[in-house]
Amino acid sequence: MAKPELLIDTPLLVCSARLLAFIRAFAAIDAHAALFPKECRTCGRVFQSFADYLRETKPKGHVLEDCSDVMRKTYTMMYRHCPCGNTLVLSVTGEIMPELEDFWTAVREEAETEERSIREVVKAFSEVCDDFIINGRDPTDLQDMGDQE
Ligand SMILES: [Zn+2]
Repeated sequence: MAKPELLIDTPLLVCSARLLAFIRAFAAIDAHAALFPKECRTCGRVFQSFADYLRETKPKGHVLEDCSDVMRKTYTMMYRHCPCGNTLVLSVTGEIMPELEDFWTAVREEAETEERSIREVVKAFSEVCDDFIINGRDPTDLQDMGDQE
C-alpha cells in the first residue's frame, strides 16, 4: 500500500497531509468559551486564547491523550506546563471539536502505516499545530512547495 504523502519529513518532524488537515479544527477550539479564558488554579495566570496558552506554556509528554474509553464519550486531554510548574489540562470533547474522533482514527492509521508509536505521531502533529497557531505558519503553504500535487 502507498504510504501517506509526507509533507514535513525531518528526523524530528514527520506529519502527513491527512493529519495536517486537522490543524484548523484544533485552531478553532480558540473560539470555545468552555475552554478560554483558561486560568491556572495554582498561580492565577489567565490565558485569554488558545494562542496565548500555547505560547506561554510548555508541552508535557505526549501532549494529547485520547481518554474516550475511560470517559465513555469522545474526550481528549491536552497537557501543558504553566510557567509556575503546574500541569494544566484542557478537556476537549466531541461537542467542542466534532472532528476529534476522525483525528484519532487518522493518528492510529498513520502510526500503523509509518510503524511509529501513537505518541510519536501525536508529538509531531502537536509541534506543527503549535507552530501554526502561535506563529500563523500555515502548513498548507508548505504543501504548495512540494513537488507532488
Ligand atoms: Zn500557574
